[in-house]
Amino acid sequence: MTLTAEDLARCYFTGGRVEGLPTGHFIHGATVAGATGETIESLDPGLARPFATFPAGNAADIERAVESAQKGLSVWRDTAPAERCRVLNRMANVIRAKGDYLAFVETLDSGKTLAEARGDVQSAIRCFEYYAGAADKLEGRSIPLGPGLTSWTEREPVGVTAHIIPWNYPTSTFARGVAPALAAGCAAVVKPAETTPFTALILAAWLVEAGLPAGVLNVVTGFGLDAGAPLVRHPAISHVTFTGSVATGIGAMQAAAANVTGLTLELGGKSPLIALADCDLDRAVDGALWAIFSNAGQICSAGSRLVVERPIHDRMLERLAEKARALHLGHGLSPAAEVGAINSKLHLDRIAAHVDAARRRGCRIVTGGQATVDGETGQGWFFEPTIIDGASVNDPAVQDEIFGPVLTVQVVDSEEEAIDVANGTEFGLVAGIYTRDIGKALKIARRVEAGQVTVNDYWAGGIEVPFGGTKKSGFGREKGLEGIEAYTRTKAITIRH
Ligand code: NAD
Repeated sequence: MTLTAEDLARCYFTGGRVEGLPTGHFIHGATVAGATGETIESLDPGLARPFATFPAGNAADIERAVESAQKGLSVWRDTAPAERCRVLNRMANVIRAKGDYLAFVETLDSGKTLAEARGDVQSAIRCFEYYAGAADKLEGRSIPLGPGLTSWTEREPVGVTAHIIPWNYPTSTFARGVAPALAAGCAAVVKPAETTPFTALILAAWLVEAGLPAGVLNVVTGFGLDAGAPLVRHPAISHVTFTGSVATGIGAMQAAAANVTGLTLELGGKSPLIALADCDLDRAVDGALWAIFSNAGQICSAGSRLVVERPIHDRMLERLAEKARALHLGHGLSPAAEVGAINSKLHLDRIAAHVDAARRRGCRIVTGGQATVDGETGQGWFFEPTIIDGASVNDPAVQDEIFGPVLTVQVVDSEEEAIDVANGTEFGLVAGIYTRDIGKALKIARRVEAGQVTVNDYWAGGIEVPFGGTKKSGFGREKGLEGIEAYTRTKAITIRH
C-alpha cells in the first residue's frame, strides 16, 4: 500500500523517521558512496533540526558522473525518438504513482508547505509529459539550392548537459531542465542545492525505473564550490543550465567561457505587480498576496514590488495588510500551514538584515518585519509576511532581491510612471498587470522589461509557456517548445549529386 504524505508526516512527527531516503550520489544507474566519504546534514527548516545526511561531493565524484554521462550519451542519442518519448511518458506515470513521497521529502528538505510541494510534483509530471510529446518532433528543414545539390538540417543533441539547481523549487527545476535535455537525446549531470539534495536523487532513480539506460542521468550532491564548480568548468560539458543567484550565475558564465560552453542562466528577480486604478480590487489584492507570499517569497519570479496607482493605494494596502496578518505560518507538513519556513538559518538572517536596514533608513513597515518561529512548536525558521510602504525608487528594499516574504509598495500617478517604475531595477523576469482596460494592459505588457507578462492573474501559465529573464535575470528560455532549443544544435548537411 502506498503511504500518503499525511501518513508519512505522522510517522515523522511521532518518531522523527524518514524511510527510503537515498544515501549516496546517483551515478551510472546506481546509488554510490562519495569519493571522500564526507557527508552534509540535511535540516528540516520547519523544526530547525537535522533529519538525514548526504554525500559532500567533489571533483572526483563529478569526474565519475561525467564519464558515466558520456557512456550514457552514446546509447541515448542513438535511441529512437519514439522510445525516448515512451521513457519520458513512463517517468510521468512513475511520478504520478509515487508523487506523494516526493512531495513529503520536498517539504522536509525545503520548508515549503505540502500543498506547494504537491503543486511542484504536478508540474514535474507535466514537464515529462510535455517533453515526451516533443521528443519525436525535432525536425529539420530542407534548403533549396537548385539542381545537383540537396541540403537539409538536422537537430542533434548537444551532448552532456550540466544542471545546477537552487533550493527553492528543486523538483520542478530538475524536471524543467532534465526533461527537455533527455527528450533531445542528451545525457545529463545534475548538481542539486546543498540544502535540498533528495528529490533530485529520487527522481534519478525513478528515471531508471521508467526505462532510462544507466548513465544517461547522474546526480552528484554537495556544496557549490566543491561539486558545482568542477561540473560547470568540465571540458566534456556541452551546455550548462544554471538556476540560482546573479553572483553565482556570473561566476558560472565565466567558468563556462573557458571551454566556450553554452549556458542558460535563470537568475534572480524583483518583479513588479502593477495595479491600475480601474482594476478588480479583490482580484488584485489576492493576486498581490500570493505573488509574494507563496513559497514564503522564495521565488525568483515573486511579485515583490507592488506598483499601485494613487486612487487605490490606501484601500489596496489596507486589505493586503489585513490578509497578510491573517496568514498562518507553520511547518510545511502541518495541514494548517499557509506559509512555510525559510529554507536555512543563513537565509533567514539575510532576510531579517534587509528588513532591519530598511527600517533604519526610515521605510514604513506596514505589517510583519520580524523573524519568528512556528507557533505550535516554538521551533523553525520563519519570517513574518512583511509589507514595506514608502520606500524611494532607489532604496535597496526596492532594488535588491530579498528572496523572502517581503513586499515593497510604490505609488504612481499614471501608467507611464508605472512602466518607468516597473523597469527601474536591474532585473527583468516577470511583470503582472491588473486592469480592466485591455488597451492599457497591452501597452504596458509591450513596454515592460520582463521575460513574461501576465494580466489579471499573476501566476497564469504552465509548462507550455516559455520562461526566462532579461537584464540581470539571465538569458535563454526554459519551458515551452523554446525550452528544448538549448539542448539541440542544428547540423546542416549538403550533398552534390
Ligand atoms: P545560489 O546561486 O547560491 O546557488 C544555486 C546553485 O548553485 C546551488 O546548487 C549551489 O550549490 C550552486 N553553486 C554555488 N556556487 C557555485 C559555483 N561556484 N559553481 C557552480 N555552482 C555553484 O542560489 P540559491 O541561493 O540556491 O537560490 C536562490 C537564487 O536563485 C535567487 O537569486 C533566485 O532568484 C534564483 N532562482 C532563479 C530562478 C529562475 O528561474 N530565474 C528560479 C529559482 C531560483
